[in-house]
Amino acid sequence: MQPKQYCPICNNETEYNQRHPNYVCRSCNKNPVDENGRGLLFSNIDLSGGFEAKYADTKEVSENHIAYGHICYIQGVECWATEYRFGGIVIEPMDEERRAIINRIKGKK
Ligand SMILES: [Zn+2]
Repeated sequence: MQPKQYCPICNNETEYNQRHPNYVCRSCNKNPVDENGRGLLFSNIDLSGGFEAKYADTKEVSENHIAYGHICYIQGVECWATEYRFGGIVIEPMDEERRAIINRIKGKK
């Protein structure tokens, strides 16, 4: 039997995903915002994948989000968006491992 897993935002049951045991469900991941509450859109760059963050209002690419590791907020919860293995985007709550990566990137600037 597959273990059950739940959306960390709304606590609804989500489809089991071994690689992303704590991913944000489809209904919660629709409107991610940045630290100022500005809407973000995440997408793959092309069919082979990649990751791109744009502002929802101007469709301008957010360099800040690329540099700082795709941080976003969903209903006030700090999250991290990344490319899904088979295309698409997956969003998960921030964890210590990811925070350490982001701090390393920030430290280089
Ligand atoms: Zn949810």
